[in-house]
Amino acid sequence: KNLILYRPFYLQLTNMPSINYSIQKPSSPFDVDKPSSIQKQTQVKLRIQTDGDKCGGIPIQLQLKEKKKKGYCECCLQKYEDLETHLLSEQHRNFAHSNHYQVVDDIVSKLVFDFVEYERDMPKKKRIKYSV
Ligand SMILES: [Zn+2]
Repeated sequence: KNLILYRPFYLQLTNMPSINYSIQKPSSPFDVDKPSSIQKQTQVKLRIQTDGDKCGGIPIQLQLKEKKKKGYCECCLQKYEDLETHLLSEQHRNFAHSNHYQVVDDIVSKLVFDFVEYERDMPKKKRIKYSV
């Protein structure tokens, strides 16, 4: 008997990956072949434009930034739309100032501090004393 426990996951592509031996060396063999210099640049531009069209004309770089902002907070067990805004939220700030980091501090306390620790730079007024 064949019991299905999880929903199947599919991937449908117009072109399945193929190993490209002719591409220049550090490039991935699964990269699409990009012929040299000028042609390459126009190709990249074209691709950005077409991708942009799919997402309502948003430039691809902006789109990536948006993606970076979004995420999931493992402390608050909460999804957020914007990282900075989430870090300023009450829930997250409460966590950040809580004793939930004791597990980290316990490990840190086992490490040896062997850097040179300078005193904080004195404000300018005090330094003038030396030069006088
Ligand atoms: Zn959080």
